[in-house]
Amino acid sequence: MPEQYQETAQYEQNGQTDVQITSLQKNQPDYREAIEILASKIRGELILPGNPAYEAGRKVWNGSFDSYPAAIARCVDAEDVRTIVNVARAYAMTLSVRSGGHSAAGHGTNTGGLVIDLSQMKAITIDLVRQTARLEPGLTWGEVAKELQPLGLAITAGDVASVGVGGLLLGGGIGWMVRAYGLTIDRLQAVEVVTADGQLVRASADAHPELFWGLRGGGGNFGIATAFEVNLHPGGAILGGAVFYEATEAERILREYTRLAAAAPDELSTEVLFMLAPPAPFIPPDKQGTPVVGIMVCYTGDISEGERVVAPLRQLATPIADLIAPMPYSAMFALTAVGEIPGFQHHSRSQFFETFSDEMIHTLVEASHSVVSPETLVTLRVLGGAMSRVRADATAFAHRDKQGMVLVSHFAPLSADATSLDARTQRVFRALLPYANGAYVGFLADEGERIREVYPPDTYARLVALKNQYDPTNLFHRNQNIKPTATLALLAEPVGS
Ligand SMILES: Cc1cc2nc3c(=O)[nH]c(=O)nc-3n(C[C@H](O)[C@H](O)[C@H](O)COP(=O)(O)OP(=O)(O)OC[C@H]3O[C@@H](n4cnc5c(N)ncnc54)[C@H](O)[C@@H]3O)c2cc1C
Repeated sequence: MPEQYQETAQYEQNGQTDVQITSLQKNQPDYREAIEILASKIRGELILPGNPAYEAGRKVWNGSFDSYPAAIARCVDAEDVRTIVNVARAYAMTLSVRSGGHSAAGHGTNTGGLVIDLSQMKAITIDLVRQTARLEPGLTWGEVAKELQPLGLAITAGDVASVGVGGLLLGGGIGWMVRAYGLTIDRLQAVEVVTADGQLVRASADAHPELFWGLRGGGGNFGIATAFEVNLHPGGAILGGAVFYEATEAERILREYTRLAAAAPDELSTEVLFMLAPPAPFIPPDKQGTPVVGIMVCYTGDISEGERVVAPLRQLATPIADLIAPMPYSAMFALTAVGEIPGFQHHSRSQFFETFSDEMIHTLVEASHSVVSPETLVTLRVLGGAMSRVRADATAFAHRDKQGMVLVSHFAPLSADATSLDARTQRVFRALLPYANGAYVGFLADEGERIREVYPPDTYARLVALKNQYDPTNLFHRNQNIKPTATLALLAEPVGS
């Protein structure tokens, strides 16, 4: 069996931070030699158990994952990444790759292996003439938006500031400008990537085109991206914000919302929130803690035209709060900051929908009402627009025809009852199964075979072929994994052949 497949034993998770590597683990491969090599070769910091930075460094956004890596390598450049890939391969170390750390499945950390932490790689180079940018993976989308904003430029990305460039860009990128400018991968010109053999290659439409295809939606399966070149687009002022309604008429509001949002011009991207109204100053005190429907909007064209387009969404009932106003694009992220408390446990499920039926909306509203609590956030996005005009086989993200996406999440402190939070998440997810079709890799939690819902059979087969070519021993397996079949063939070969 290839060494990469050998599961490492669990550390004793005793919560102590001042233990030495040798006493941390039982039945654990002894990686001391590998760690010594890394310590002498990489230019970035190597954080080991006992280092004051270890406790924070071992954690990721989803607090459910309480893991103890043998070492965390904070890379400063692609050369560091190459060194680590070579050492991890040679010593068969489990490898986690982390940019912004938001993987719902906690893939950005592990117990007993190595974490490549790219969060220090934050260079951004903007070419105003070509309207392009080179982004390093450790940037967050909030940081990117802030840099581009004064230049009147932007790049379509997600809806939350702290999400990392690395993970989102390899998965797809569905956010506030998805209908106007497509997925983030649709703006990619090239990716610099360290492959499993330690080579740094630049993949684009002209060089390594199949790898470039797979990197756009295939997640971190084919290498470690050290930089992305993207085409920018206009992005100064937008008409953005949210309007909140009482959820008593949620079903009618959602029916009208889906119809209006799908028929709107591409400049308008939207997202609906179903939740308990937060104790925020803009919510009247008597409505705080009651179920509400919030419609978030981002209109990227002329503001007065946007006012006209958005108006019907603001008149679906009597709003309890209307925060829609002209604002810088980067300000949209401030509105979602409430949903991103790092270290909370996070339970989520997500599904794509080809279309919206009254029955599907009825089911969504009923199921959401049945679980709603201060920990619940159910979101529904109407897709389409520029994202849907890219051919399904142009990138590894093939769900171009999907009209909708639902994400149901429960966030809570670690002391909360995880079983109950998970059960409530699953209840909404299961209720929607009869209407759902497909999954988004960026929102997949630890869900095993649901990877097959992310990639239709043709796409999956093409990704497996690419994996066989670029990572036949599955060095990069702490991700939504495309399993190579080349390794299985190797295993089946008689010894000595
Ligand atoms: C609060 C929240 C909001 C979100 N909102 C959106 C949204 O609006 N739209 C959207 O599309 N997605 C969204 N996502 C999903 C997000 O895109 C994915 O979770 C993404 O993988 C996170 O990227 P990261 O770099 O922060 O995470 P990480 O945990 O660092 O990375 C996730 C995985 O991606 C791979 N990876 C990361 N960086 C690299 C790299 N440089 N090279 C190779 N592989 C790499 C690794 O396999 C890693 O395990 C959201 C997630 C959260 C938690």
